[in-house]
Order: sequence, then C-alpha cells, then structure tokens
Amino acid sequence: MPKIRKAYKVQLKTNKESEVLLTRFCGSGRFLWNKSLAMNLERLNNRQPILWYNELAFWLTLWKRSEEYGFLKECPSQVLQQKLQDLERAFRDCFDKNQPLKRMPVFKKKGSGDGIRFPQGFKIDNRRIFLPKIGWIGFHKSREIAGTIRNITITNRNGKWYASIQVEQMIETGKHVSDSEIGIDAGVTCFAAFSDGTVVEGIHSYRKHEDLLAREQRKLSRKKKGSENWKKQKRKVSTLHHTIANVRQDFLHKLSTGISKNHAKVYVEGLQIRNMSASARGSIEEPGRHVKAKSGLNKSILDQGWFEFQRQLDYKLFWRGGMLVEVNPRHTSQRCSCCGHTAKENRASQAVFKCMVCGHQEHADVNAAKNVLTVGQTGMACAANHISDRQQESAENREGVLPIAS
Ligand SMILES: [Zn+2]
Repeated sequence: MPKIRKAYKVQLKTNKESEVLLTRFCGSGRFLWNKSLAMNLERLNNRQPILWYNELAFWLTLWKRSEEYGFLKECPSQVLQQKLQDLERAFRDCFDKNQPLKRMPVFKKKGSGDGIRFPQGFKIDNRRIFLPKIGWIGFHKSREIAGTIRNITITNRNGKWYASIQVEQMIETGKHVSDSEIGIDAGVTCFAAFSDGTVVEGIHSYRKHEDLLAREQRKLSRKKKGSENWKKQKRKVSTLHHTIANVRQDFLHKLSTGISKNHAKVYVEGLQIRNMSASARGSIEEPGRHVKAKSGLNKSILDQGWFEFQRQLDYKLFWRGGMLVEVNPRHTSQRCSCCGHTAKENRASQAVFKCMVCGHQEHADVNAAKNVLTVGQTGMACAANHISDRQQESAENREGVLPIAS
C-alpha cells in the first residue's frame, strides 16, 4: 500500500504568552534562514560551492555560543535545524531539472510566509497541540485528524496563528473504476480543451479580482509607509491576495477532481520547459552566472495555473489507481485529428482549426487535445512521427482522402 501525505490546517487559540514566544521563534527562524541564505548567495556569486546542512549546522552552533546571536539558543533547536534542512531542500530543488518551476530561495520578510516547523517533540490531544518550549495551545477543530503525524508547521497570517498538521496515511490504490482515457490540451484561447470536445474557460473571476488588486495596490503606494492607514490598506491588499489564490485553487481542484474520477488515463502535453528553465541556473556543481534570473518560462501559462493543475491531476489520479501521462507535444496543434495532415496552414486562426486537405473544422484546442490523446495511446515517448504515419495509413484506407506528407 502506498503512503500519501496530507495536511490539516487549523487555527490556534493563542494567548498573549504563546504569541510572544511564537513571534520570537519565528523571528529566530527567519533570521537563521536569511543569514544562511545570504552566505550561500555570496558563495554562488563567487562561484564557490554551496554550504549544505552539515556545514550550516556547524555555523549554527557557533552562532548560538556567540554574544551577538546568542538569542538563537532560546528557540527549540529542532526548529532551527529544520530551517537549515528546508534551505538545503530549496537549493536542491532549484537545481533539479525535473522541477522547472522551483526558483532560487528568497529572503523571508516578517509576516510573509515565515513559519516554523516542528519535526518532533509535539503532541496532539483532541483539541490541543503541545509544542516544545511553548506548551499546550488549543485549536479550532473542524474534522478528525487521521494518519500518523509527521510534523507541524506554525504560521501567522494577518495576526492569526495557524498550525498545518502534516500526516501520513496509507491508501489502497486498486484499479481505477473507469477505463476511459482522455487527452487534454493547455488551451491558447481557453484554460484547457479535452479530446471529448469539452472546452474549459479561464478563471474569469480571477481577472476581476486582479483589477481590484491593482487598484488597491496603487492606493497603498500613495499612503505613508508605516502609518495606520497604510497598515489598514496593507491588510486589505493581503486579504485580496489570499482571496485570489483561493478562487484559483478552488477552480483547479474542482476540475482536477472531476477528471481524475471519470478517467483512468489522462494524457497531457509535456511542455518541454525543463531544459529551458534549468539551463540558466546551471547545476549544483557548477552554478550558472545568472542563478538569480527568473527562468524564461511562459508567464501566462504559469499564471493560468496549468502546472498546478497538472500536479493535482497527477496525485489525484494516482490515489484512484489512474495515471497522468505526458506526451510529446510536437505538431499537436498543426495536425488534423481527422486525417493526420500536418501543416501550419491548418491553423487559420488561434481559435479555429481547418484542415487544408479533408476540410475538417474544429475548435483548435479540441483538435490539439484529440492529437494528444492519439499520441498518448500509441504509447511512444517520441511519437510525433509514428503517429502521423499511423494516421496516414488509416486515412489512406478512407475513400477520397489523400494525406499530403508534411
Ligand atoms: Zn484533415
């Protein structure tokens, strides 16, 4: 039985005392992260190898003994060690060619994504969490926490404290209930198109919120930094950011859940972004010169959440005994899903596909999705050529249809 990891997020019922401690520990964690990150970025700039966990942990013991950074001693040491491990992971991920979306780790600012993780020493008893050096804190419980608890991460958002409880659960993955297979194309004119003809529009409410966000951000920039009005406006902007993220996640989750329930095998285009993005960074052994530069990915695809969508599809299909398969995207947008004729001219406009040979006309992204399915079903990693051969054969058997070699 495979294991899966899941997280339950609960709001903590903190009091003044626990808030003071949590704030202090988060501050120590942030300080350690930023200091270690700065050291490593400087090393990268000087083309020196990065310091990994063991070296950084050695520095940590020195810092704890020093007068200047002695405050680190107050923080539970496993929390600090975890920070260094997270930093090591962040660097490894960023140089990992299989994770093209990972960027270089960044400095943490107070109140933005700075949390502390307890890998051990915690306890949970119905409605309370015990944290080392802090003690018991109650939490708002909405559902039963199932599985073995691996770690607990504490974060603060807009003055409220949350605990994300990560658990490991064993799941049974039998055979998928359906044997349906589907191809999906990351649409040019829509969010996604399916080989069964379904077209999923983009996230419109997201656009609307984005305009609002831009307006509120302009207002914020006009206020005096640090003033009461500025703080108020800052909270507004932060809440809006949160809302946008939620709307988007909600949209993607609904879509990926539906697909993973109804289809056992889902084929998507491998967008071949891995090489593009990884090259600028170089490798761990030999960091590139522009390690800090953002990778040259198509930002609109990123914004649309296509990769998050794929990630969700991948694990949800896995849970249900299904599978996500990436196929070679070559020519999928120019090939006729009906007769196999492949030509630029088939793509008369972004939205419409019209085959120059057989006259087949279709929503361009649906046509591409059908090709993704066909390429996937032939089961070949570099199937672009093979598939057109196969389609040409079948097309030749059809009366009156003569494919032109591309
Ligand atoms: Zn055709």
